[in-house]
Amino acid sequence: MDLLIFWDEAAPTGIQSVFSRDLESLLPITPRVCDSHVVVNGFIPSRRQTNATALIDSLDLSKKRSGRKDLILLVVSDDLCRTGDEYLFGLSRPSTGNAVVSTARLDNEFYGQPACDEDLIDRLVKESAHEVGHLLGLAHCRNPECIMYNPLLLEDISRQKRWFCPKCQENLNSFE
Ligand SMILES: [Zn+2]
Ligand SMILES: [Zn+2]
Repeated sequence: MDLLIFWDEAAPTGIQSVFSRDLESLLPITPRVCDSHVVVNGFIPSRRQTNATALIDSLDLSKKRSGRKDLILLVVSDDLCRTGDEYLFGLSRPSTGNAVVSTARLDNEFYGQPACDEDLIDRLVKESAHEVGHLLGLAHCRNPECIMYNPLLLEDISRQKRWFCPKCQENLNSFE
């Protein structure tokens, strides 16, 4: 089983290969970046945000039609939300093996700071490894430095290391 990274055409470009290499170093499966043919629906004009649940519904449908079994991670630049959540960095649905991450709030520019690819890649790698961790069966972890810690704020992602704690790593290894 592979991990397909669907890169939305509006997502930041020029960082895909570094991102993919860094993500691969953390995970027991091989990521492959492809152009996304998934229509980004679920846009809510009044909030200028996209409903992450609707996006995963689209991924589920597209996977069903294609008959593929690979895990899919969709990378978008749209700011994500969900009923009950003002915003989300990402969302996964382990039952169908599909997840989405957003670069919107991982980018310094969102906070009025100069853009920095290095920061963006670092946060995107951690947030993506977190969602793929869920797809591989991992739950949230209480260790604030572990990738499976539930990040609610950007500071949480910055504090996380590019590291699964020994307990989470053990669970990941059992997937191999
Ligand atoms: Zn999570
Ligand atoms: Zn952990």
